[in-house]
Amino acid sequence: MNAANVDQAELTKFSSLAHRWWDVDGEFGPLHAINPLRLDWIDGIAPLNRQRVLDVGCGGGILADAMARKGADVLGIDLAEKSLKVAQLHALEAGTSHITYRLVAAEALAAEMPDHFDVVTCMEMLEHVPDPASAVQACARLAKPGGWVFFSTINRNPKSFLMAILGAEYVLNLVPRGTHEYARLLRPSELARFCRDAGLDMQQSCGLQYNPISGRYRLSTDTSVNYMLATRKSTNSA
Ligand code: SAH
Repeated sequence: MNAANVDQAELTKFSSLAHRWWDVDGEFGPLHAINPLRLDWIDGIAPLNRQRVLDVGCGGGILADAMARKGADVLGIDLAEKSLKVAQLHALEAGTSHITYRLVAAEALAAEMPDHFDVVTCMEMLEHVPDPASAVQACARLAKPGGWVFFSTINRNPKSFLMAILGAEYVLNLVPRGTHEYARLLRPSELARFCRDAGLDMQQSCGLQYNPISGRYRLSTDTSVNYMLATRKSTNSA
């Protein structure tokens, strides 16, 4: 596994926007817009109440906080310190209990807490790291045998380039320019291979479709742009 699986420029990008994490109309607006959809999808597959949950690349805690509010005991990790401070402050202000944030790499935590979590989520993060396979492996290691590991990212094809980069960054200004780099996007088949290699069995996939007219997202079977995968750690891979 890659011990320093981090791109400093990516962290700087997220840190500089950290004060905006909880502004639903700001740069992270799309994450707020998809949050209820992904939360319900995850909770429908792996009910979160009373589960030990790890959110890898948690940012300002948009999903982590919502999972804690579903009754999970959540640890959120990221390598951007400012984002973690914002996440902590939000939990304090909102009175969210059973949530902790830590500045630690997934790979390092995997060495410290292997086979520990019932559910691991790693959303919209793999496309920002130099070695996504290493991050997938770390998530797999962190999950208990039989535990659930969820990923979301952006597909790599001409349509996703048009929608997620040109459209979202240059036409609709949904997210800042330079948020996503085409070469780092991941096809579902590539992510599925990383999962298989890490001992994670594919269970379900789901698309997140944006409607530019209504400005809304919905879950769909179309994984051509934004998508999520639900995987489960093999019980014999420990
Ligand atoms: N998962 C959150 C935030 C997604 S934004 C959500 O979906 O709401 C991507 C996040 O990945 C940022 O918070 C960024 O700081 C984090 N990140 C980027 N590289 C990372 C790395 N190497 N290790 C941990 N987090 C990283």
